[in-house]
Amino acid sequence: LGEQIRQAQKMEAIGQLAGGVAHDFNNLLTVINGYTALLLDDEPPLSPRRESLAEVRDAGERAAALTAQLLAFSRKAIVEPKVLDLNEATASAVRLLKRLVGEDVRFEATFAPSLPKIRIDPGQLEQVLMNLVVNARDAMPTGGQLRVATKETLLPVGLKGESSDTTSGRYVRLIVSDTGIGMSDEVKSHLFEPFFTTKGIGKGTGLGLATVYGIVRQAGGTVLVDSEVGRGTAFHVMFPALESASEPPPKASAQASPRGH
Ligand code: ADP
Repeated sequence: LGEQIRQAQKMEAIGQLAGGVAHDFNNLLTVINGYTALLLDDEPPLSPRRESLAEVRDAGERAAALTAQLLAFSRKAIVEPKVLDLNEATASAVRLLKRLVGEDVRFEATFAPSLPKIRIDPGQLEQVLMNLVVNARDAMPTGGQLRVATKETLLPVGLKGESSDTTSGRYVRLIVSDTGIGMSDEVKSHLFEPFFTTKGIGKGTGLGLATVYGIVRQAGGTVLVDSEVGRGTAFHVMFPALESASEPPPKASAQASPRGH
């Protein structure tokens, strides 16, 4: 756990640095991309310069996408945590996730009934889901099974995140698992470090899991990984359960359904 905390502090520092650079970079890119678009507009349709300018524009757009990711990573974006139901939030992202996954991978989502609520920014939760699902897909280049599941869970005290705001140890768990390539111990040990990637230049930024980690820690939760080379990987994301918000609001017309609380 000490190692994890050191890791998180290192990440925080790199994140702040990256965020500052990304912010200034973004302003410069706005100028570069803006003038490139103007120049391209002014070029006659058959001008030989159009191709070069289009290359500049495309590179500028890629750079802008990268800085956007850096900014999101350094959490310069406005964060608005809300009380929400993990099942509902996950279910509403399923269509998007299925599209990300493509045809070769079987996608399955299972939801545990009546989960306690959690507190997190809905956009950030979607980012967590997307990053984990994209990684799972990338781990299965020849296809496989991708599962997204929710669960209520009790964490042993030793595993509780130190910034957690649950006193009972009750967590809501999001599991994203794949039957892909799995991870070596070497990869596992660098997993949450910013810019660590095995996907090659131009493919991975190495910011996906660092972002996931930052978001989940900020929400008072924690991330556990279970992976075996050649068999697959499961990411377990734990969010502190909100005790008081877990009951549905009283409704006059509510059916009397037994709920095991
Ligand atoms: P990126 O996806 O840009 O490489 P991430 O931070 O999301 O950055 O992931 C870092 C690295 O962790 C990946 O390059 C890969 O080696 C490893 N990894 C992440 N998720 C999985 C997974 N589901 N299966 C196997 N390896 C994974």
